[in-house]
Amino acid sequence: MTDLTSRPAAFLDRDGVLNEDIGYAYRPDQIIWVEGAMSAVRWLNGRGFWVFVVTNQAGVARGLYDAPAVENLHRWMAGEMAAAGARIDDFRYAAFHPDFDDGRFSDRADWRKPGAGMLRDLCASWPVTPAGSFMIGDRDSDVAAAAAGGVPGYLFTGGNLLTAVRAIVEGGA
Ligand SMILES: [Mg+2]
Repeated sequence: MTDLTSRPAAFLDRDGVLNEDIGYAYRPDQIIWVEGAMSAVRWLNGRGFWVFVVTNQAGVARGLYDAPAVENLHRWMAGEMAAAGARIDDFRYAAFHPDFDDGRFSDRADWRKPGAGMLRDLCASWPVTPAGSFMIGDRDSDVAAAAAGGVPGYLFTGGNLLTAVRAIVEGGA
Protein backbone atom coordinates (compact mmCIF):
# COMPACT_ATOMS: atom_id res chain seq x y z
CA MET A 1 0.00 0.00 0.00
CA THR A 2 1.35 3.36 -0.98
CA ASP A 3 1.91 5.90 1.76
CA LEU A 4 0.32 9.12 0.46
CA THR A 5 1.84 11.36 3.10
CA SER A 6 3.54 14.36 1.53
CA ARG A 7 7.26 13.72 1.36
CA PRO A 8 10.30 14.67 -0.72
CA ALA A 9 10.97 13.15 -4.12
CA ALA A 10 14.05 11.77 -5.81
CA PHE A 11 13.70 12.45 -9.53
CA LEU A 12 15.96 10.03 -11.38
CA ASP A 13 16.98 10.24 -14.98
CA ARG A 14 16.82 6.81 -16.62
CA ASP A 15 19.48 6.28 -19.29
CA GLY A 16 22.92 6.86 -17.80
CA VAL A 17 21.63 6.74 -14.22
CA LEU A 18 19.55 3.58 -13.67
CA ASN A 19 20.76 1.80 -16.79
CA GLU A 20 23.74 2.24 -19.08
CA ASP A 21 23.00 4.76 -21.82
CA ILE A 22 23.38 2.75 -25.01
CA GLY A 23 21.21 5.20 -26.99
CA TYR A 24 17.51 4.69 -27.68
CA ALA A 25 16.97 1.54 -25.63
CA TYR A 26 13.37 0.37 -25.77
CA ARG A 27 13.54 -3.38 -25.04
CA PRO A 28 14.36 -5.22 -21.80
CA ASP A 29 17.30 -7.02 -23.40
CA GLN A 30 18.91 -3.60 -23.96
CA ILE A 31 18.88 -2.71 -20.27
CA ILE A 32 22.17 -3.06 -18.43
CA TRP A 33 21.57 -1.90 -14.89
CA VAL A 34 24.05 0.55 -13.44
CA GLU A 35 25.89 -0.79 -10.39
CA GLY A 36 23.92 0.04 -7.28
CA ALA A 37 20.76 1.07 -9.18
CA MET A 38 18.41 -1.24 -7.30
CA SER A 39 20.03 -0.70 -3.92
CA ALA A 40 19.88 3.07 -4.48
CA VAL A 41 16.14 2.93 -5.16
CA ARG A 42 15.60 0.62 -2.19
CA TRP A 43 17.60 2.97 0.03
CA LEU A 44 15.54 5.97 -1.15
CA ASN A 45 12.35 4.00 -0.44
CA GLY A 46 13.58 3.34 3.07
CA ARG A 47 14.38 7.01 3.61
CA GLY A 48 10.82 7.93 2.67
CA PHE A 49 11.46 9.50 -0.73
CA TRP A 50 9.11 9.20 -3.64
CA VAL A 51 11.16 7.67 -6.43
CA PHE A 52 10.26 8.99 -9.86
CA VAL A 53 11.90 8.34 -13.22
CA VAL A 54 11.95 11.26 -15.65
CA THR A 55 13.37 10.41 -19.05
CA ASN A 56 13.64 12.06 -22.46
CA GLN A 57 12.53 9.55 -25.09
CA ALA A 58 12.85 11.41 -28.36
CA GLY A 59 13.06 8.02 -30.04
CA VAL A 60 9.26 8.16 -30.06
CA ALA A 61 9.19 11.45 -31.99
CA ARG A 62 11.89 10.09 -34.28
CA GLY A 63 9.81 6.98 -35.01
CA LEU A 64 12.45 4.58 -33.69
CA TYR A 65 9.92 3.03 -31.30
CA ASP A 66 6.45 3.86 -30.06
CA ALA A 67 4.92 4.98 -26.78
CA PRO A 68 3.64 1.49 -25.84
CA ALA A 69 7.22 0.18 -26.18
CA VAL A 70 8.42 2.81 -23.68
CA GLU A 71 5.56 2.00 -21.31
CA ASN A 72 6.16 -1.75 -21.59
CA LEU A 73 9.83 -1.24 -20.85
CA HIS A 74 8.99 0.86 -17.80
CA ARG A 75 6.62 -1.82 -16.52
CA TRP A 76 9.40 -4.35 -16.95
CA MET A 77 11.92 -2.10 -15.16
CA ALA A 78 9.50 -1.57 -12.28
CA GLY A 79 9.00 -5.33 -12.09
CA GLU A 80 12.74 -6.00 -11.98
CA MET A 81 13.07 -3.40 -9.26
CA ALA A 82 10.17 -4.91 -7.31
CA ALA A 83 11.79 -8.34 -7.54
CA ALA A 84 14.81 -6.76 -5.84
CA GLY A 85 12.64 -5.16 -3.15
CA ALA A 86 12.84 -1.68 -4.70
CA ARG A 87 9.90 0.50 -5.69
CA ILE A 88 9.72 3.09 -8.45
CA ASP A 89 6.59 5.07 -7.67
CA ASP A 90 6.01 6.53 -11.12
CA PHE A 91 7.56 7.20 -14.52
CA ARG A 92 7.31 10.12 -16.91
CA TYR A 93 8.83 10.22 -20.36
CA ALA A 94 9.11 13.05 -22.87
CA ALA A 95 8.39 11.86 -26.39
CA PHE A 96 8.73 15.33 -27.91
CA HIS A 97 11.72 16.53 -29.91
CA PRO A 98 11.73 19.93 -31.65
CA ASP A 99 13.48 18.57 -34.76
CA PHE A 100 10.95 15.76 -35.21
CA ASP A 101 7.76 17.56 -34.30
CA ASP A 102 4.67 16.63 -36.26
CA GLY A 103 2.35 18.02 -33.63
CA ARG A 104 1.73 14.74 -31.86
CA PHE A 105 3.64 15.73 -28.75
CA SER A 106 3.80 19.51 -28.99
CA ASP A 107 1.35 19.97 -26.11
CA ARG A 108 4.02 18.40 -23.93
CA ALA A 109 7.03 20.16 -25.45
CA ASP A 110 8.02 21.44 -22.01
CA TRP A 111 8.21 17.87 -20.72
CA ARG A 112 11.45 17.49 -22.63
CA LYS A 113 14.40 18.23 -20.37
CA PRO A 114 15.83 20.86 -19.85
CA GLY A 115 12.15 21.75 -19.44
CA ALA A 116 10.56 20.90 -16.11
CA GLY A 117 7.19 19.64 -17.37
CA MET A 118 7.72 16.07 -16.16
CA LEU A 119 8.72 17.24 -12.69
CA ARG A 120 5.76 19.58 -12.53
CA ASP A 121 3.36 16.86 -13.67
CA LEU A 122 4.64 14.45 -11.01
CA CYS A 123 4.30 17.14 -8.34
CA ALA A 124 0.70 17.67 -9.48
CA SER A 125 0.02 13.92 -9.36
CA TRP A 126 1.64 13.04 -6.04
CA PRO A 127 1.95 14.76 -2.64
CA VAL A 128 5.53 15.97 -3.01
CA THR A 129 7.31 18.09 -0.42
CA PRO A 130 9.70 20.37 -2.33
CA ALA A 131 12.14 20.68 0.59
CA GLY A 132 14.58 17.80 0.43
CA SER A 133 13.59 16.80 -3.10
CA PHE A 134 16.35 16.49 -5.68
CA MET A 135 17.12 15.32 -9.20
CA ILE A 136 20.01 13.21 -10.42
CA GLY A 137 21.01 12.87 -14.06
CA ASP A 138 24.01 12.33 -16.27
CA ARG A 139 23.62 15.39 -18.50
CA ASP A 140 23.56 19.15 -18.07
CA SER A 141 19.98 19.10 -19.36
CA ASP A 142 19.00 17.07 -16.27
CA VAL A 143 20.53 19.64 -13.96
CA ALA A 144 18.85 22.41 -15.93
CA ALA A 145 15.47 20.65 -15.68
CA ALA A 146 15.94 20.39 -11.94
CA ALA A 147 16.69 24.10 -11.70
CA ALA A 148 13.62 24.90 -13.81
CA GLY A 149 11.57 22.69 -11.51
CA GLY A 150 12.93 24.32 -8.37
CA VAL A 151 14.89 21.39 -6.95
CA PRO A 152 18.65 20.84 -6.66
CA GLY A 153 20.13 18.83 -9.52
CA TYR A 154 23.19 16.62 -9.36
CA LEU A 155 25.32 15.10 -12.08
CA PHE A 156 25.96 11.38 -11.89
CA THR A 157 29.24 10.68 -13.60
CA GLY A 158 29.32 6.92 -13.18
CA GLY A 159 30.28 4.40 -10.54
CA ASN A 160 27.89 3.10 -7.93
CA LEU A 161 24.50 4.84 -7.87
CA LEU A 162 23.85 4.07 -4.20
CA THR A 163 27.15 5.70 -3.25
CA ALA A 164 26.23 8.78 -5.28
CA VAL A 165 22.70 9.00 -3.86
CA ARG A 166 23.93 8.63 -0.28
CA ALA A 167 26.49 11.37 -0.85
CA ILE A 168 23.71 13.67 -2.04
CA VAL A 169 21.23 12.92 0.74
CA GLU A 170 23.59 12.47 3.67
CA GLY A 171 26.48 14.64 2.60
CA GLY A 172 24.54 17.54 1.13
CA ALA A 173 26.81 17.00 -1.90
MG1 LIG B 1 20.60 10.33 -19.17
